[in-house]
Amino acid sequence: MKYLITSALPYANGPIHFGHIAGVYLPADIFTRHKKLKGDKAIHISGSDEHGVAIMQNAQKAKISYQEYVNQWHKTHKDLFEKYDIKFDFFGQTSAPYHKEETLKWFNDLLGKGLIEKKAEQQLQCQSCNNMLPDRFVEGECYVCHYAEARGDECPNCGTWIDPLKLLKPVCKFCGSNDVKAIDSFQWYLMLSKMHEKFQAWFETKKTVWRKNVVPFVESLTKDNLVDRAITRDLDWGIDVPLPEAKGKKIYVWFDAPIGYVSNTAQFLKESGSKEDHIKDWWGAKDVTIVNFIGKDNIIFHSIIFPVMSLGTGFVNPVSELPANQYVNLEGKQFSKSKGWYVDADEAITQFGSDALRFYLTSLIPETSDSSFTWKGLELKINSELANNIGNFINRAMKFSASKFPEGMKAEKFAAFFNTDIKEVEKFIKEY
Ligand SMILES: [Zn+2]
Ligand SMILES: [Zn+2]
Repeated sequence: MKYLITSALPYANGPIHFGHIAGVYLPADIFTRHKKLKGDKAIHISGSDEHGVAIMQNAQKAKISYQEYVNQWHKTHKDLFEKYDIKFDFFGQTSAPYHKEETLKWFNDLLGKGLIEKKAEQQLQCQSCNNMLPDRFVEGECYVCHYAEARGDECPNCGTWIDPLKLLKPVCKFCGSNDVKAIDSFQWYLMLSKMHEKFQAWFETKKTVWRKNVVPFVESLTKDNLVDRAITRDLDWGIDVPLPEAKGKKIYVWFDAPIGYVSNTAQFLKESGSKEDHIKDWWGAKDVTIVNFIGKDNIIFHSIIFPVMSLGTGFVNPVSELPANQYVNLEGKQFSKSKGWYVDADEAITQFGSDALRFYLTSLIPETSDSSFTWKGLELKINSELANNIGNFINRAMKFSASKFPEGMKAEKFAAFFNTDIKEVEKFIKEY
């Protein structure tokens, strides 16, 4: 059996915290190590997710180019993973040319099959600076809860997915003007509705396999129909829509990001000098189990949208297993950098070291419900379990063997002993 393991692409727009590490990257790392140690063929693929409006806004604020901005976060994230001993076979970037090439293959294929369609729609435009205002480039009052700073894509107060045309008192985020008007425009849509039946037939096979925090949620969203979604935007950062009539339009981030798993696999094989083909030997192969490690906020894209894109193109097999973890909180409350409720993951690793932190974070992996990082918990776990129990056990075993076998033990003896033991352990695991 071969395992193609992916970790959610971290967004190149801010620091990674314990929640991300314990929820996604650490379990994926442990799973990959386990498969490799057992002798299975396994690769762990991830990379930075580098497009989208939030990145553009922060790069503009920092007064540096988008590319420079995402490169900085890419390096920061990569360095942090190294400090936590989280190993990837490849950790790429979605702003790279190889990723663009792969994404365009998908776009053109789906377009040719009628699964991407052009649709007319109204969009907000600033009449002062003339910018189109997709997603977070417009803010205004939420029409549901009347929170004053709802964004064009979501209300941070009540969580509503905002229809920007309905925002009250819209304001342009480029220039601050409130002279914002709806104008006639057009975008390309992923026609999820056309794939409803095919999706359902596939999802049926996952209902008994996937976790309880995933299946009912996905079922409730997909039971009656699938809603078509715009996959292009008027932006100046992203992959160009490959059509002459689409000048100035980019493929939107959530369409290209999951393709990053595939493009990064291709690039990994290429750079490592492998003769394998990323589709034939991995993504499209029957003997490969595809495992996407994600957080619960990413379920829709990995359980519905990317599987539809995969089934639609037929380029890759849709995901086999979807370990979607819940959140890790800090002392019972959600991590929030802006509210200062936060532990710097980089500082923590410098202070406590990778073994100690990984040991505690592993005990917090939120598989079925949210868990909580606490300083008391860290202290207890390290002192009583890691140092006292495991540390003492190893210390005593070493002392015992040094006193009873001062001349040392023959390597063959060890090998024979542990071989039987591993088989026994495997038997126990299977029967469990
Ligand atoms: Zn609201
Ligand atoms: Zn403006």
